[in-house]
Amino acid sequence: MGDRARTAAVIGGGVAGAVAGAALAKAGIEAVVYEAYPGRPEGVGGTLSLAPNGVRALEVIGADEAVRAAGDPVDRMDMTVGNRRRFTIPALPDLGPLWSMHRTDLHRVLHERAEALGARFAYGRRLASVRERADGVTAVFADGTEAEADVLIGADGVHSAVRGLVDPANPGPAYTGMLGFESVAGYEPPVDPGVMTFAFGRRGYYLYWRLPEGGTRWGVNLPCKEPLTSQAVRERSSEDWIATMLEVYDTDEPGGALLRSTGPVQAHGALYLMPKVPTWHRGRLVLVGDSVHAPSNSSGQGASLAIESAIELARCLRDLPVAEALPAYERLRRSRVESVAAQAAKANAVKAPGALAQAVMPLVMPLFIRTVMRPERTLGPVQRHRIDWDAAVA
Ligand SMILES: Cc1cc2nc3c(=O)[nH]c(=O)nc-3n(C[C@H](O)[C@H](O)[C@H](O)COP(=O)(O)OP(=O)(O)OC[C@H]3O[C@@H](n4cnc5c(N)ncnc54)[C@H](O)[C@@H]3O)c2cc1C
Repeated sequence: MGDRARTAAVIGGGVAGAVAGAALAKAGIEAVVYEAYPGRPEGVGGTLSLAPNGVRALEVIGADEAVRAAGDPVDRMDMTVGNRRRFTIPALPDLGPLWSMHRTDLHRVLHERAEALGARFAYGRRLASVRERADGVTAVFADGTEAEADVLIGADGVHSAVRGLVDPANPGPAYTGMLGFESVAGYEPPVDPGVMTFAFGRRGYYLYWRLPEGGTRWGVNLPCKEPLTSQAVRERSSEDWIATMLEVYDTDEPGGALLRSTGPVQAHGALYLMPKVPTWHRGRLVLVGDSVHAPSNSSGQGASLAIESAIELARCLRDLPVAEALPAYERLRRSRVESVAAQAAKANAVKAPGALAQAVMPLVMPLFIRTVMRPERTLGPVQRHRIDWDAAVA
């Protein structure tokens, strides 16, 4: 493995896979992205927000402007506790807003950009296994087809198949104890458009923001003992789920009003995070994005970190032989993604209702208050992160 990678098989065509394809192509490495779905993946659907660090990282592959054009700016983030207290989490000066967008629009922009840079996409190809040799790796797909590459990149999400191939002892994802739902309500709470509110209700967490075209988009993290798949969730009607959500949010303001004025809900299913993954790479196999660092959706950083990691991995493979590039990539990324995950874990602990949340809230509140008082210190290191693409990796 004293050789440099000339070809890469990227498994998974979500955020990390498409950005890895684009950045590898820019680095002069022939990249094919293999996606299990028959077309561009919609992933869990719905919307997501990209943080300033994620949008800035996209400058490297020239996708930042198209992503901004596909999204709506979030100028301010507020947090409410119960129905009483509202805090504004100040944005950092000169960094610009968060960008909220439909996941399908983000995928479209990233896939188009990757193709423009020379990456190729192959759909309907679900990785089943790999055969490894000293000088390369063969990806074997469920449809019986195979593909050769110098390096195989597992960008296959939180339920990654590649993670177990890298090391069977790697942990699987951890269920957060919550199901994700999202929809648009007719009710418009008295908050300006452009303000995203993270609401810690009496018995559960939700978030909402008014849409420029009218109405309010909301999402809930509904506590549930069972980690139901999105398919299992869809077996119950939307009305049924709204009735269940009302049991949790009815007395919250504006949670109850949003639910009572809402259309059909979109089910994301069980929400997962990745515990610390001991082995990021082995031989010619390496992990990127949620497959190795899903920090829970409380962080608002999952997609942005996936973008950063995909770009750093391509940079390492550009500059170093495979055997050195993969450890260098892990060195560049591990401490950053683990510190974001640790912060998100604290926020997660107070999202579920009950005695535990009551006990943890006093521990988390100081974190939020510190964020409000000293945003530069708490948010700066995460959001000001910059990748120097042109610098050679040592
Ligand atoms: C409800 C919800 C809300 C979220 N909100 C935000 C947010 O606001 N901001 C944010 O930054 N992050 C958010 N996240 C997290 C964010 O979605 C992820 O961090 C991000 O999608 C990770 O990208 P990825 O490419 O690593 O994985 P994914 O987007 O999951 O993509 C993995 C891809 O791999 C494919 N695949 C899987 N297995 C195989 C296989 N064997 N062979 C081939 N292909 C395969 C899948 O079909 C999929 O297309 C949210 C997550 C959820 C669930």
